[in-house]
Amino acid sequence: MNFKMLIVILLLSLSATAQTNKPSRKMAVTFDDLPYVAAGQSPDLPNAQRATKEILRVLQTHRVPVVAFVNEGKLQVTGEVDARIALLQQWVDAGMILGNHTYSHPDFNALTVEQFQDEIIKGEVVTRRLMQSHQPYQLYFRHPMTHTGDTQAKKEAIESFLAARCYKVTPHTIENSDFIFNVGYVRALRHEDEAMAKRLRQAYLDFTMAATEFAERISLQIFGREITQTLLLHANDVNADYLEEMLRRFAGRGYRFVTLDEAMSDPAYETKDAYVSQFGPTWLWRWMKSKGMEVTLIHHLIWKFAESWPVAPDSACTC
Ligand SMILES: [Zn+2]
Repeated sequence: MNFKMLIVILLLSLSATAQTNKPSRKMAVTFDDLPYVAAGQSPDLPNAQRATKEILRVLQTHRVPVVAFVNEGKLQVTGEVDARIALLQQWVDAGMILGNHTYSHPDFNALTVEQFQDEIIKGEVVTRRLMQSHQPYQLYFRHPMTHTGDTQAKKEAIESFLAARCYKVTPHTIENSDFIFNVGYVRALRHEDEAMAKRLRQAYLDFTMAATEFAERISLQIFGREITQTLLLHANDVNADYLEEMLRRFAGRGYRFVTLDEAMSDPAYETKDAYVSQFGPTWLWRWMKSKGMEVTLIHHLIWKFAESWPVAPDSACTC
């Protein structure tokens, strides 16, 4: 073996080692509040059409399978019903799965079980019809604001109701408060404040990565390993414009994107969510509480901080 060949073999070996050492992580991506979260724009249909097109372009380019949750009440805008249903059809045509996020995005804390059941039934009419071409598929449900029941009885009653209608409740392990960044971002665009839009972009992407790193560390603490993460995003402008950069950053952390079905097949997701609260924390928090694990001060502070974030009045969703 000559010297050059030895160098080549050494480099290949180093490259293989580097490849092995690169973290191999998995993530499912979900979107809420379809067809679109308007943050004060008027009229918002052209914005919704632009955002839908751009989000789907990025998801298809990066081969990201998504379950996207619909509020069918948002379709009922005079003169725009067909155009809004067409937005949902674009998601289906792009190979994405539609899920139920209730009809009008109510807070379960303020509703009776019966009222919330009506919201679920009313919220699945168009979605089920659009998904007919994709049979069979898993029906997924996500509670608005991930408020899963502020009493044990309400939580269990809705869990039973959903199971009887073949729905799985959808957890999330990473929440990046995109709905807050979106309000500031849309405002900056409206005022043509490019400097502010740029600062928000950087802050949004950095915060998303910090939330991801945090979820990785907490999952290690709970399960002794990094689990498949599930990210919760909204169909809004900040994601239309920055999703591509976000996905690149995830890929840089070693993530590949899997279906929600695959994420839910991670044994971690079999952990019972026994946590009853008026708030809607991530499932990592719920699992910690359910397992009786010590919630350290730092976790407590972070989640308390997240819970106390101001909800912008023109933001449609706080989940
Ligand atoms: Zn929502």
